[in-house]
Amino acid sequence: MSIAKEQVEALLDFIDESPSAFHAVKSIENKLISFDFKALKETDIWNIKPGGRYYIIRDDSSIICFVLGKKLLTETGYRILGAHTDSPGLKIKPNAVKNSDGLLRLGVEIYGGPILATFTDRDLSIAGRISYKTEEGHIASKLVKFDQALLRLPNLAIHMNRKVNEEGLKLHKQNELALILSAAVEEQLSAKYLHELLANASGIDADKILSWELNVYDTQKGSFWGDQQQFYADSQLDNLASCHAGIHAMLNESTLDSDTTLVCALFDHEEIGSESTKGANGCFLPDTLQRIAFASNVNEEDYQRALAKSFMISADMAHAYQPNFPSAYEPEHKVTVNKGPVIKVNANHRYSSESISEAMFIQWCEMSDVPYQTYSHRTDIPCGSTIGPITSAKLGVRSIDVGNPMWAMHSIRESAGVEDHHYMIKVINTFFTAE
Ligand code: ZN
Repeated sequence: MSIAKEQVEALLDFIDESPSAFHAVKSIENKLISFDFKALKETDIWNIKPGGRYYIIRDDSSIICFVLGKKLLTETGYRILGAHTDSPGLKIKPNAVKNSDGLLRLGVEIYGGPILATFTDRDLSIAGRISYKTEEGHIASKLVKFDQALLRLPNLAIHMNRKVNEEGLKLHKQNELALILSAAVEEQLSAKYLHELLANASGIDADKILSWELNVYDTQKGSFWGDQQQFYADSQLDNLASCHAGIHAMLNESTLDSDTTLVCALFDHEEIGSESTKGANGCFLPDTLQRIAFASNVNEEDYQRALAKSFMISADMAHAYQPNFPSAYEPEHKVTVNKGPVIKVNANHRYSSESISEAMFIQWCEMSDVPYQTYSHRTDIPCGSTIGPITSAKLGVRSIDVGNPMWAMHSIRESAGVEDHHYMIKVINTFFTAE
């Protein structure tokens, strides 16, 4: 098997064990521990040493890991790879259970901007975090995941929706998204029905469960496709593919023995604007970088000097050209699957790229023997954004927005190219190790 294929296989395994942002951070933490990374707590005093490997988790779904360089921060600055752990989709409402017409359904709220029609007719289930009271009366949290397909949003038959192929599937957000969970339930359902379901999955007593953050996920595993199996499909490629590339690029001998301080910052809440304690528009990354500096006996002025020497790659997926829909794309900026990472450029700074950071990234691509492409959105369609502009603005760090080309962004089943994942790992690795 080619290296690229092995790396994508590892990516698909990572996504399949990460049905929520909480699970993604747990999977990343397990990987880091296997490479001798040590957990740091925000409530503790940090004793960190050059050459050491560390990670910090904020609220279970954002994580920053770093290798403390052997040279002074003022000499090298930080090299930061940023990405996000969350994906758009459906979240279970607090009072979710609806019992009517011989069916039990769960009410959901929309998180970010999913393509809702893609959630129909899929083998859906539930994953996330529950908070509960321990025997001693403390508050604790536990990740929970139902393995089997539990929920479904059946489509309306074409006989009742004759124009679906002309007008597309439109779902009313309040009335038409509840997910079917069970048939023929008793009139009087226990008030703690959902608690009991969660108790079975988590092993926590139903009456101890106080609250939860649960999302809907697709139980279908990732797969390769295409005549040469040169493409792959899974949920959450945006943006677990970039998280995986960043972590993978950090975890090898050349990077783990680094003169420069290397950072992977993976945030929740990008899909809803990043404004939260653990989002990219919060203080998690600035706090962490500052604490790394102060714990290394670097003073305030030298910390600012280190930032001025730093660079961040904001990695988030890009829109690959789909030839069935030519009018959706800017004709001179078609980016192609399996043709390399995409540099994203936007005059209104929806992406953080500028000419110097672009030139630097191009140089790293050339050094890695990796092709690259440049993307610009159609001028008459509003462009999405990333954590790049927010984070670089907060830190004053030079930054670039890049990402691998993919199809069907925000579908529950996205797809991308096998070679691109390998290319992205290679170029991030060069970024981490280049002089
Ligand atoms: Zn994204």
